[in-house]
Amino acid sequence: MVRFDHVTKRYGDLVVLEDFCLDVAEGEMVTVIGPSGSGKTTVLRILMLERIQEGVIYVDGAPISHMEKKGRLVPASERYLRRAREPIGMCFQHFNLFPHMTAIQNCMEGPVQVLGLSRQDARERAEELLEMVGMIEKKDEHPSRLSGGQQQRVAIARALAMRPKVMLFDEVTSALDPEVIGEVTEVIRKLVHEHRLTMLMVTHQMGFAADISDRVCFFYGGRIEEQGTPEELFGNPQKERTQQFLSAVK
Ligand code: ATP
Repeated sequence: MVRFDHVTKRYGDLVVLEDFCLDVAEGEMVTVIGPSGSGKTTVLRILMLERIQEGVIYVDGAPISHMEKKGRLVPASERYLRRAREPIGMCFQHFNLFPHMTAIQNCMEGPVQVLGLSRQDARERAEELLEMVGMIEKKDEHPSRLSGGQQQRVAIARALAMRPKVMLFDEVTSALDPEVIGEVTEVIRKLVHEHRLTMLMVTHQMGFAADISDRVCFFYGGRIEEQGTPEELFGNPQKERTQQFLSAVK
């Protein structure tokens, strides 16, 4: 469903990802872990927000970093890029809800403005999703009246309202108080088990990663140093760097 094909991402002279390859299958939950600065977030940002310098990224078989012209792949125009990224949903560490809109308005805005749904259809979809994340009772509240965990759950519902084929989660629990982390991880767990959405997640919570991932990738210096099932990677890491990292975060 998602393919990074020999991707290089640089910021000026700083090479963050080099010759990076990763395939995420349909319905697979892949988690990226690793030390600070190793390039984890960059993997998500180049899917959704930024351009790459080399290689190609595909989503559902179509190039999203490039477009085809006369049978050749050329860098995508801004317009192409916007459309190509529509099947991707993203939730960040900071929820970025529209502050002047209620929870349900936040979830209706994209479907109405971008997908062209009627307000009635968008409302029904938003209500279903707010129900799913346990926020239907708070649907008419503004974000400032919600806790961090509640805002994050609305942010997840908002991203899902766009019916993404792929969901990205970037440290969605990092900015939350410990007592509300569980309510957000529960929602993500539900998406994994009941909806089998294709997901790519960056997290510092090893227990959570172990619990819900089909595959865990340990990042080091912009490369995947080691990857495997949670049992393999957490239970029997092969590389010294993985072992060191895991013993330091335990
Ligand atoms: P953390 O766990 O601390 O979030 P990370 O593994 O997610 O780290 P990235 O955020 O992907 O790391 O950053 C990788 C490298 O790219 C870092 O050295 C960072 O300083 C650099 N970087 C990230 N964004 C930019 C930017 N917009 N401009 C310049 N350098 C950047």
